[in-house]
Amino acid sequence: MAEAYPLAGKAERLLNIIEELGANINLPRLRRDPKYFLEIYRILLKDYDDLDLLRNDIEFRGGVYTPYPTPRMMGTTAVRETPEEHPSEIGYLMRYAKIRSVQISAIKAIIDRLRAALAAHRIAINHLTEYCAVWCQDCGKFLRGKTALKAISTNRCQNCGSSKILFTPNSAGVFRIELIPYLPLSGDYMRRITQLSSYARATYGRITRYLRESVGRSVKSFSIIVRVRAGDKIFRRRVRFSTEAREAVNYEAVIRERFGPSARIESIRYRRTQPVLLNDRYTRACIALAYVSLTYDVWFSKKSQVRIISRKIDAEKTLLKLPIYVLIHDLARYFLLKSPKSRRRLAGAFPYLESSPQISIIEPVFTILRDEDSAFAAKTLGLTEEAIPLEVIRLKFTIERNYEQKIRSLGLLSSRGMAAALLHLTSKHELSQAAKFFNTTKSEGIKALEKLAQVNISSELPESGRDKLAKIEVPRTTRAKGFVEALKET
Ligand SMILES: [Zn+2]
Repeated sequence: MAEAYPLAGKAERLLNIIEELGANINLPRLRRDPKYFLEIYRILLKDYDDLDLLRNDIEFRGGVYTPYPTPRMMGTTAVRETPEEHPSEIGYLMRYAKIRSVQISAIKAIIDRLRAALAAHRIAINHLTEYCAVWCQDCGKFLRGKTALKAISTNRCQNCGSSKILFTPNSAGVFRIELIPYLPLSGDYMRRITQLSSYARATYGRITRYLRESVGRSVKSFSIIVRVRAGDKIFRRRVRFSTEAREAVNYEAVIRERFGPSARIESIRYRRTQPVLLNDRYTRACIALAYVSLTYDVWFSKKSQVRIISRKIDAEKTLLKLPIYVLIHDLARYFLLKSPKSRRRLAGAFPYLESSPQISIIEPVFTILRDEDSAFAAKTLGLTEEAIPLEVIRLKFTIERNYEQKIRSLGLLSSRGMAAALLHLTSKHELSQAAKFFNTTKSEGIKALEKLAQVNISSELPESGRDKLAKIEVPRTTRAKGFVEALKET
C-alpha cells in the first residue's frame, strides 16, 4: 500500500492531462484529416497502455487488498512526519489506521477512475478503428480498420504500394465517433453523472439496467476432481466439463480414457454463470453516459429541429427515451452488420458485448425500435437514418441460429448485402433503399436474396416477405441445383 500511494498521485496527474485531450478533440477535423486522425488514435493508444500499466502496478503491487495493517508497515514516513509529544500506543495505532484508511480510499478511488478511463479509451479506440478506411486510387482496393491505419501511417497502399490513398469513413463499419468527446476518458464518470440533469440521470440509469440484462440461459458447467494412482504415488487432477447437464456427457468414460482404469472420482463441483448483455460495469457506465450526453447536447443545440418535433409529438416525453432509442438502433445495426464470428472476435463499438444473446430475452429491450416518436425525433435531429424494424433483428438471429451453416456452404456473402436483404424482406423498403441504408449495392442485396431463397427460409418470413422471396430466381447453375436437391433430401 505504501508503495501504491505515490503511484496513485502519478495516475491522477496523467488522468488530468487526458481530461484536456478529451475536451479538445476537433470532430470535423477528425472526420476528414487522416494525419490528425492518426495522431489522436496514437495518443489514445499510448494513454491506454500507460493507464493499463499504472493500474496493474497499483492493483497488484500496491496491496490494496491487504485486509489488516501489518506490523512491517507501521513505520511509514507518513506516520513519522506528524509526531505527537507523548504518543500512547493506542493513539499511535489509531492515527496510523486513519492515515491508512485515507490512503486506501484514495487508492481505491484512483483504481475506480483508472478502470473507467480504460473502458472509455477502449471504446474510443474501437470507434476510430471501425471508422477508418482508405481507398487506393491505383488498385481500387478498400482497406479498413488497422490495415487502413497502417496505410495512413506509411502513406502507402498495403495492397499495391501506391501512395495515392484517400481517407474515407468505413462503409462497412459500425461507429459513432461523435460519442468520443462524451466518453469519460479521464475516468471522471462519477462527476459527469452528477452533472447530468435529473431526467438525463434517469435515462442513464435505464440504459445501464438494460445493458446489465441477462441474455441467456445460465450456463452450467461442472468440474470433477479425479484421484489417479501412478506407481506408488497418488495425485489429483481437475477436469472441467462445460455442458449443461451431467447426464449429457459420459464423463466416466472420458476420465477412464484420459487417466486409465485406476482413476477414481473424488468429487464433482457445479458452477453456474449467467451471461449479461454487456459484461463490464465500467463499459456500461461509459456507453450510457456518452449516449445520454450526446443526445441531450444535440437536442438542445438544434432548436429549430426540436420545434418541428414538438409540433408533431410530445417532445419532452420523447427526449426521455431518445438516448435509449439511439443506442438500441446502433446495437441493432451492429448485430445486423456483423457476423457472429466477427462479433466473437471483435466487439468494436461495444466491448464486452455478449456476441450472440438470446433474442427472446433481449427483445423487450429492443422493442423501443418500434417507438415511432423516437424514430421520428432521432431522424429529424440527424442522429439516425431509417428506422430498423424489430422483425429484421429477429430474423437475423433466427438465420444465425438455424441456417448459418447452410448459407455459408453457398459461398462468401457480404454481411451488408445480407442486412439489406433481410431489411427488404421484413419491411416496406425496396431493395435499393435497403441497400443504400447499409451502404451497399443492390446487386449485393440480390446475391444475398438468392442465397436465402436457396436455403428456403420462407417459413420464417411474414407473408409479404415470402412473396418477395418467391420472386427471386434461384441461380440455375448445376452446383446450385445440386445443392437444392440435396436440401430436399435432408
Ligand atoms: Zn493500392
